[in-house]
Amino acid sequence: VFTPAARVARIKPSPSVAAAARAKELRAAGADLVDMTVGEPDFDTPDSVKQSGIDAILAGDTKYTAVNGTPALREAIRRRIADRTGIEYGDDQISVGGGAKQIIFVALMASVDNDAEVIIPAPYWVSYPDMVLANEGKPVIVECPEADGFKLTPDALERAITDKTRWLILNAPSNPTGAAYSDAELAALAAVLERHPHVWVLTDEIYDEIWFEAGRVSSIVKVAPQLADRTYVVNGVSKTYAMTGWRIGYGVGPRELTAAINKLQSQMSSCPASMSQAAAAAAMTGDQSFIAETVAVYKQRRDIAVEAINAIPGLSCTTPSGAFYLYPNCAGVIGRTTPKGEVIENDLDFVLYLLDSGVAAIHGAAYGLSPHFRISTATSTDLVEEACRRIAAAVAALR
Ligand code: PLP
Repeated sequence: VFTPAARVARIKPSPSVAAAARAKELRAAGADLVDMTVGEPDFDTPDSVKQSGIDAILAGDTKYTAVNGTPALREAIRRRIADRTGIEYGDDQISVGGGAKQIIFVALMASVDNDAEVIIPAPYWVSYPDMVLANEGKPVIVECPEADGFKLTPDALERAITDKTRWLILNAPSNPTGAAYSDAELAALAAVLERHPHVWVLTDEIYDEIWFEAGRVSSIVKVAPQLADRTYVVNGVSKTYAMTGWRIGYGVGPRELTAAINKLQSQMSSCPASMSQAAAAAAMTGDQSFIAETVAVYKQRRDIAVEAINAIPGLSCTTPSGAFYLYPNCAGVIGRTTPKGEVIENDLDFVLYLLDSGVAAIHGAAYGLSPHFRISTATSTDLVEEACRRIAAAVAALR
């Protein structure tokens, strides 16, 4: 019999991937289900970007590249990050990988062991705790209640830091809440970190372009450049350019960390797919109008869904500032009874009831903060409206 290694036994599969797979199965079996679990844009990759991938293949761009990517991709990343943060990163400060997910995993693998602690504000992207566990670290979950805008406060950060803290992970705009920090909030967190020079910051900015407020979403390394020598910035093309299947993500940061990451990458994958790198570089340097067009649609769906959810007695929803998720509060339905006579004890019971009612969503416990559920608006506008109608009918049927 096969016995998995301890690091595998410690972790669980991604609940969002599992929920999306279950929704697909049910639909394949004929269920009338609106799938609100998806974590990827419903838009297609722009044609010009696809063409760049095809051109790369036809030009024979089909071989291994440098571990840290092609010169064209590195230059695109450098420009992008400099534009966003004001900092120019050298070639020896850049890593590329098969998605931001792989970059984060390898960054943790390169830096965490022996129960080093990683502070993860909750609600969090489902993968962070398991990635920390897989790499022999200890996730330290800090609940960030809705009353605080789902954001980490300086006091909570201070309390969570110990001698063993290695990283603080920040993710803004956040999956699942769409919350993001202002310059002042980041400066206040940075002030705490300045008192604890052993704590590094990993800032996952994968949703930075999917932003509904004025200006641009802030970055801690821009607000507090004095932390640049212990800040790792992660981003990618998946969400911004609807390129989830191309699998290109990147990270920039301190040289020693980058060297460790790239050493691991050299033994793990050598490099991400060459044609995907060409397409990603083209996406980042070409016409950017796709972003504004798609963000306008995400914003319209957000507005429709927030209004519809807030009109349902028992549910309430904070308006997200970015990304394409809603994280409604379902405290008002806990303790109520379904038409089948089952009592809804928690947010998992509620999403299972929603599944029976024709809507697939993900329960808040998977993100570390209950009672909530996550719905994605990366579907069509019609489906967002239909899902909200079904949720309203389902809640109205509760006793
Ligand atoms: N970070 C967050 C917060 C995400 O939600 C996701 C995708 O769901 C990723 C990273 C990974 O993106 P990718 O690996 O496609 O670049």
